[in-house]
Amino acid sequence: MNQNSQKRPYRGGHTARPTTSRRPRHKGGGRSKSQGRAYIHPSKFINRATIGEAETPYEPTHRFADFPFSPKLHSNIAYKKYEVPSAIQDQAIPPILDGKDVIGLANTGTGKTAAFLLPIIEALSANKDPLSVLILAPTRELAQQIDEQFRAFSYGMKLYSTLIVGGMNMGRQISQLNRRPQVVIGTPGRTMDLIKRGVLSLDAVKVLVLDEADRMLDMGFINDIRTIASSTPAERQTLFFSATITPQIQELTREFLHSPVTVSVRTADTSERVDQDVVEASSKEEKMEKLLTMLGQDDFEKVLLFGETKYGVQRLSDSLEKSGFASVAIHGNKSQSQRQRALKAFKDNNARILVATDVAARGLDIPNVSHVINYDQPATYEDYVHRIGRTGRGNATGKALTFIERR
Ligand code: AMP
Repeated sequence: MNQNSQKRPYRGGHTARPTTSRRPRHKGGGRSKSQGRAYIHPSKFINRATIGEAETPYEPTHRFADFPFSPKLHSNIAYKKYEVPSAIQDQAIPPILDGKDVIGLANTGTGKTAAFLLPIIEALSANKDPLSVLILAPTRELAQQIDEQFRAFSYGMKLYSTLIVGGMNMGRQISQLNRRPQVVIGTPGRTMDLIKRGVLSLDAVKVLVLDEADRMLDMGFINDIRTIASSTPAERQTLFFSATITPQIQELTREFLHSPVTVSVRTADTSERVDQDVVEASSKEEKMEKLLTMLGQDDFEKVLLFGETKYGVQRLSDSLEKSGFASVAIHGNKSQSQRQRALKAFKDNNARILVATDVAARGLDIPNVSHVINYDQPATYEDYVHRIGRTGRGNATGKALTFIERR
């Protein structure tokens, strides 16, 4: 049981990223240098938070007790200290329980994971067919978080899940699959590998979940997703979650879902609850000096620092270490266990500073970040909004600082 997740704040169904045009990204890895970076006018990095305490909380129409869940599932929900359903849970659980296809427009932090897991677990408690649920997520970390929640909610129910993600031992994943768990949670790349090797058959899938579908497309997984979906029976139930709705996303929903119910919990833009400002520097030395000064201040309690490349992030983390600021780093050159350790240290407040690339930080549920610092500017405004969305969660306002070159 993931005790830690019980303490995390929950954002009650807000937050959306703007629907801007996207450039395709390289699958699974960082953005290559040659792709360059879009120019973003510095004024876009300056903004006072406009959403504060005044925001009206969502009034759910259900209580958890209203959902026809088994007593064991109800007690697991209570153990996780979930008292009221979030907007996405309130609105998506009933149609999912009815077996309908659902499009959930919701971001991480809205409680979307439980929105799909709870009805799935309820259905599985009545029928424990192996390999009947496949959940696809863009990153290993997100897949891991879904798995942790699955384990917590299905505790004591004799339901099993297997995580199939890259960067982890494939042999072990194969032997876990051979034990025929009910739920497989995977990233598209590794899921494809295992299908191709003939060790994963999707013939028995009854429910297919595509979580953060927009991110999966961004990461270039479109073909894998199509192949995986077409390897599952056509009469399955499909649950499709995305924070944005672009023409490509709409096309996919038409392709994969039948008469779906759409539930949207997109309201305010994340950036409205974050105080944003720029920090000017005219040289690398001045930039580092300013960063160290900021990190030395007491209010920089929990800092997520973004760098552009894997190497840049590692160098930054090493320089901080040399200057006496312990930090942890996550990027594509780190092994899965190193990333997990780093993330855990940050979540558990054992590390005050996490240095990350965009790809490594995508989709992560990182609570209570006081400051997001863009040491390197993001490649697109959309990445910017995603980065700063790591702070200012719940009713808190966060702070985001972006380094710009003094001209
Ligand atoms: P998610 O959007 O699924 O990543 O969830 C974000 C965080 O909110 C996680 O830490 C969840 O455990 C937590 N959470 C989700 N739903 C609820 C709820 N109804 N009550 C309290 N916490 C919740």
